[in-house]
Amino acid sequence: MHFETRAIRVGQEPDPATGAIIPPIYATSNFQRHSIDQQEGYSYSRVSNPTRAAVEQCLAALENARYGLLFASGMAAEVALLGLLRPGDHVVCTRDVYGGTISMWKHLAPQRGVSVSYANLLDLDAAAAAIQPNTRMLWLESPTNPLTYVLDIPALAELGRQHNLLVVIDNTFATPYLQNPLEMGVDVVVHSVTKYLGGHSDILGGALVFNRDDLYEPLWDQQAIGGAVLSPFESWLLLRGMKTLAVRMRAHCENALRVARFLAEHPKVARVLYPGLPDHPQHELAKRQMRGFGGMIAVSLKTDRAGVDRFCQSLRLFSLASSLGGVESLVGYPATMSHEGLTEAERLERGITDNLVRLSVGIEHPDDLIADLAQALERL
Ligand SMILES: *Cc1c(COP(=O)(O)O)cnc(C)c1O
Repeated sequence: MHFETRAIRVGQEPDPATGAIIPPIYATSNFQRHSIDQQEGYSYSRVSNPTRAAVEQCLAALENARYGLLFASGMAAEVALLGLLRPGDHVVCTRDVYGGTISMWKHLAPQRGVSVSYANLLDLDAAAAAIQPNTRMLWLESPTNPLTYVLDIPALAELGRQHNLLVVIDNTFATPYLQNPLEMGVDVVVHSVTKYLGGHSDILGGALVFNRDDLYEPLWDQQAIGGAVLSPFESWLLLRGMKTLAVRMRAHCENALRVARFLAEHPKVARVLYPGLPDHPQHELAKRQMRGFGGMIAVSLKTDRAGVDRFCQSLRLFSLASSLGGVESLVGYPATMSHEGLTEAERLERGITDNLVRLSVGIEHPDDLIADLAQALERL
């Protein structure tokens, strides 16, 4: 089955009890047992719930994977992976990574005796050099947040395999529509389903998707015993969102390319980073490993922090807000929003300068989005 069909059909047989075409929201904490010996079937919704199970099956199918586990947020899914590590273990993490992931390594990893090194994974030699005898996990994100750098996923997965590391990738920006990292050798894909998979900025959720049978039990323990599971209602909204992922992503990609081209020509713009532009440092790599370039753009403006604030406040369609991946366009200021947990030195080392904004290009009409950016740039 093709992607679009899987998104609409997998896990979504008509409800056996009533014939309902849409899987119901099983808003129940518990399920009746037929006997004291019953082992199969549903028992308690933290452990499993039919609405959640439907979405887990569908999401796994979108990544061409065997297993999908849903969590209460993207960070809950990430913390479940931290739960696989033991005191003394070490992680190599891409330097350019979601701010919440940095906070997890900074605040939660030390409590568990886990140490972390950041490496510039755009450079394969630097990646190899960061691996220590006690390294257990290699953490990737591509395209990266906020600068949209693209990592060589097959090469890094191979490096991880050679060193017997668990290779993890945060696939939130690309979504399974644009890239399937498990097919490039990665062990576990993480999603914040809050973003494109949900697609409408109305839920929080996270997911782990993988093929390895030996990972199922330990990760299921993290989900079912850890208890940060996705609720039936949010599972249902997620499934509803996922049905249109393909058409939304096509529109996001098309709009973002038009917006990126407009910005690249504008005299008040210092630099545009979008994997779909030929001058993006990893444009050729992005063309090889992605089916499209996504909806996220990093833009440096020719102004100072006050000018950026004027720009953000002048925008009428791009709302100044955290998060991304919804149908509506957003502008974010990484320095005080997604990456506010970093010190100034940590920010600057990652290229998160005071004149950098991040656009999540929605699926409004592109002419309206460009007109909005044009009028706000006049106010710099
Ligand atoms: C938002 C986000 C997360 C965290 O997800 P939550 O659902 O907010 O917990 C992780 N990675 C990336 C790339 C994100 O954008």
